[in-house]
Amino acid sequence: GSLPPADDIADLVVRAHARYADVNEGRVADYIPILAEADPARFGLSIVGVDGSAFEAGDVGVEFSIQSISKAFVFALVCEEIGHEAVHELVGVNNTGLAFNSLIAMELNGGSPMNPMVNAGAIATTGLLPAESSEERWRRVREGLSRFAGRKLALDEVVYRSEAETNHRNRAIGKLLQSYGRLDPDPLETVDVYTRQCALSVTAHDLAVMGATLADGGVNPITGEQVVSAAVCRDTLTVLASCGMYERSGEWLFEIGLPAKSGVAGGIVAVSPGKGAVGAYSPRLDPAGNSVRGQRACAYLSRALGLNLFASA
Ligand code: GLN
Repeated sequence: GSLPPADDIADLVVRAHARYADVNEGRVADYIPILAEADPARFGLSIVGVDGSAFEAGDVGVEFSIQSISKAFVFALVCEEIGHEAVHELVGVNNTGLAFNSLIAMELNGGSPMNPMVNAGAIATTGLLPAESSEERWRRVREGLSRFAGRKLALDEVVYRSEAETNHRNRAIGKLLQSYGRLDPDPLETVDVYTRQCALSVTAHDLAVMGATLADGGVNPITGEQVVSAAVCRDTLTVLASCGMYERSGEWLFEIGLPAKSGVAGGIVAVSPGKGAVGAYSPRLDPAGNSVRGQRACAYLSRALGLNLFASA
């Protein structure tokens, strides 16, 4: 199937925005100091179809750091390079049931980072991207994510520095991965590349384009470029379904029925395979680190547009 008629989508996006714009539950992330300064009133919603059509409401042009949503797209780039089997074996695809920055999950599972959507698995995944040096690895990450977005993504230096000065936990994760033989390149340099990838600036519109590329078998609907293969999109969306919303992935799937990924700056991308994607931005988060308004809006849009993958009618 395809998305409903354009007029209906345009109307529903505006309605979803109006419906949740006054929700003030949740808290802006502050463990990365600069994120505490985000304006909690911001709220943007964008839907981009696989045909490149866009339907938007609110703050869709406001830039924020991609944070953990980068994990989905770096994972796709790595799958493209090293293949399905290697990713399965080296990173894993099962939910930890624990917070995204947990070290215990690794300890309980013989050093396995468990999946590429928690920090441990994401740092391991970034380390798997073939490169001669950390500079080259960073360049490849940035160029790859820019191809998904269809425009050159910039590093937010302020966010990068704020996180780089305070990311002791992620550095510990890097060293722990090294101790388990799960990270070949230098662990602290790899954590630095990961910290940079999290500090790339995007908009809700960018997230929708990036998601629509995954929805479209790897073809960016704006540029027409084949960024990754259709098989890689399938693998990436599978992992997003099981692990994209951290320990709340089951509840998300139960309510919304779409593969999705969130980030602590307040972004969410939810992907409707073959149809398109929703990009949402609003900084107030639930305790797991998922945008509150973003989740509500995605739930509303999934129902109203008939996107739940598990619904037979
Ligand atoms: N850069 C953040 C971190 O590593 C990303 C976490 C997130 O978005 N959940 O802690």
